[in-house]
Amino acid sequence: MSSQSPVIMWFRQDLRLSDNPALHHAVQSGQPIICLYVFEDGANGTRKLGAAQKWWLNQSLQKLTQDLEKIQATLVLRKGSAADIIDKLVEETGANAIYWNRRYGEAEQAVDTKIKAGFNSSGLAAKSFNGLLLHEPATTRTKSDKPYRVYTPFWKNFVAQGSVRALFPVPTEIKSFGKPLSSDDLSDWNLHPSNPDWSKDMASQWTPGEAGAQEALRQYAEQNLTAYATARDFPGIDRTSRLSPHLRFGEISPHMCWHACYSGRYQAGDTAREIWAKELVWREFAYHLFHHWPDLASVNFNRKFDSFPWKHDEVALKAWQRGQTGYPIVDAGMRQLWQTGWMHNRVRMIVGSFLVKHLLIDWRYGEQWFWDTLLDGDPASNPAQWQWVAGSGADASPYFRVFNPILQSQKFDPDGTYIRKYVPELAKLSNGIIHTPWEASPLILRSANVELGNNYPKPIIDHKAGRERALKALATTNQLVE
Ligand code: FAD
Repeated sequence: MSSQSPVIMWFRQDLRLSDNPALHHAVQSGQPIICLYVFEDGANGTRKLGAAQKWWLNQSLQKLTQDLEKIQATLVLRKGSAADIIDKLVEETGANAIYWNRRYGEAEQAVDTKIKAGFNSSGLAAKSFNGLLLHEPATTRTKSDKPYRVYTPFWKNFVAQGSVRALFPVPTEIKSFGKPLSSDDLSDWNLHPSNPDWSKDMASQWTPGEAGAQEALRQYAEQNLTAYATARDFPGIDRTSRLSPHLRFGEISPHMCWHACYSGRYQAGDTAREIWAKELVWREFAYHLFHHWPDLASVNFNRKFDSFPWKHDEVALKAWQRGQTGYPIVDAGMRQLWQTGWMHNRVRMIVGSFLVKHLLIDWRYGEQWFWDTLLDGDPASNPAQWQWVAGSGADASPYFRVFNPILQSQKFDPDGTYIRKYVPELAKLSNGIIHTPWEASPLILRSANVELGNNYPKPIIDHKAGRERALKALATTNQLVE
């Protein structure tokens, strides 16, 4: 082995060159670098990507390939079991080290541990770094040395941990491994949808890749950050950062977001910035839970919910998925998700509450649907937030708090802008009645071309009846509320 042996830089949830600790250290080694991406596609129990995430990954890998080419490097693409692929690559190239940024799923960590052990026993080096989180779960503990279960103390501890590290520089050149290596053709991975290709609306709204991520952050910090506190809950104005898919795939680091928010140091008392910073820390909290409770996507965090009497109702589930529940704000949200691969956070809470409380459908169906349709479908945030909505999660909203989809709609989409955009069949209804079309007179409905039960559904369930049914289910379930 010599210092001219190559090292492998294994890209995973960090599809970027800027502020990438593993890449930075690989470059610093001075050795030639083989850049690798492995499409594991469910191998070894890793979670298979949803369809929308696959669309994003396809675009993001194309961008990363181009960005690497600009600094004379090539991205090698291989599909299958990561351990086997990496073993073979070491054999082919004589690589003597591998660099990666850590990930936190149980199956993913088992893969990494196995690779690390194999490297160590062969006298090779496996070096891992933190590129995904501001502070890692293993180093964040309560005073009694336990994982956190409640957000507020988690946030306080976060702030007490002090400043977020400085950013790593972008490499301007990578010493490439000289010999050509075989690489899959990205199009053979079938990440892009076909028959039908439903991605047109997504392509017009999003710019996957590192440059798109940085531009989104720049625009947000310049134009919307200080208005976030007042504007963030209104889906019709849409003034949140829309950075979630970029963060999901690591096209930008949370450190870059944090520094853009605070230009350096955290300042207590700067409420406008703190509200956004706290959202970044909700993401950290989700990863904390995911690390300590790895089956978060399949098992109730609060095991008392194991006996909850969920209803198996395929018809209602389909109506929810297709945005045909008869509740305009719910339908607008579900259609925004289907068309654009994203949904505003306020509406995610409304549709989530509607599914688990009004329809009594198990949160795991909602989590899986979001996983498949969200561009930002995140292994930690998605299950953590679904359990939060359901009331079964850590620091969850209490089960008896049933979101009222009518009041939420009137409060957060008062002039119906959001509803009109995604439920155009209701567009001609007035601001007063658009939230509750079933209360409109036949004359009003006719003059707005709305035929309830024909071109727009009647409510799938009465709000009051749904709420009472949810509370009754709760009462029969062994006092879920403490
Ligand atoms: P901003 O409001 O600009 O926030 C900045 C960043 O902070 C986001 O990009 C995101 O990374 C993080 N963030 C914000 N809110 C939360 C939150 N509540 N929990 C965790 N991180 C947060 N977010 C995902 O990234 N992936 C998911 O799969 C996901 N599933 C969700 C499911 C449900 C039922 C709910 C209620 C929320 C879910 N969220 C998820 C959280 C939140 O809705 C999105 O992060 C947010 O809407 C993304 O928009 P933004 O980038 O404009 O966020």
